[in-house]
Amino acid sequence: MNSRKIILIIVLLIALAAGLVFIKYFLKSLAIQSQNSMNRNSSVTGSQFQSSEPESLQETQVQNSKAALSPPIGNWQARVVKKPFGIKVSPTNSPVQPEKFSGYHTGTDFETFPDEADKDVPVFAICGGSLLVKEYASGYGGVAVQECKLNGNDITAIYGHLKLASISANEGQQLAAGSQIGILGKGYSRETDGERKHLHLGIHNGASIDIKGYVQTPAELDQWIDAAKYLK
Ligand SMILES: [Zn+2]
Repeated sequence: MNSRKIILIIVLLIALAAGLVFIKYFLKSLAIQSQNSMNRNSSVTGSQFQSSEPESLQETQVQNSKAALSPPIGNWQARVVKKPFGIKVSPTNSPVQPEKFSGYHTGTDFETFPDEADKDVPVFAICGGSLLVKEYASGYGGVAVQECKLNGNDITAIYGHLKLASISANEGQQLAAGSQIGILGKGYSRETDGERKHLHLGIHNGASIDIKGYVQTPAELDQWIDAAKYLK
C-alpha cells in the first residue's frame, strides 16, 4: 500500500509539472499572436499582452515629438547663423558689422540667402499657441511674441525683424505649429529697425513677456533657451 501511494504521488507530481509547462507555452503563444495582430492593426487593444519593450519605445517617440519645434523659416538647416544663441558681442567684437548691440545674444539669428533680398521670406510658428503681442519695437522693427509649451513647460517665442503689417493674426489668436506668422522685414529699413534682413528667434522661459535680444550676465541668459537644440 505504501509504495503504491508513493508511486501515485510521483505520477501526480509529474502530471502537474507537465500541465504547468503546457500552460506556460500556451500563454506565450497567445501573447505572440496578440502582438502580431496588434502590429497588423496598429490598434491599442489587448495591451496586457504587450511586452514592456515596445511600450517604452513608443514613449520615447512621443517624448521626442513633444520636444521638437517646427522650423521657423524655410531651409533653416542651410542658413548661415552669424549669431548663435548665447554669443557675447560688442560693437568692436561682433561677427556682424556695424554692430550697435552688446551683451549675450538671447536668440538664434537665421540669415537670408542673397537672392532673398527682394523676395517675401515667410516666418512660421515653431509651436502651437496664441499670439500674445505684435508690435513695433526698438532694435527689431516688427516683433511677434507667441505663448507655447516646450516639454510641458510654459515658454514664449520671440520672432524679430518681421514686417509688422504682414502679421495678419490678431493678438490672442491661436497659431498652429508651422502656420505662417508673417514675412521678414526689408533689410536696412524701418521694418527691421535698420538691421540686415534676417530672423531673430528667441525662446524665453516661462509665461512672462520679455523681448530682450541681449542680456548682460550669464545668469540672465539662463532664462533663455537655445532653439537650435529643439529643431530637427
Ligand atoms: Zn538676434
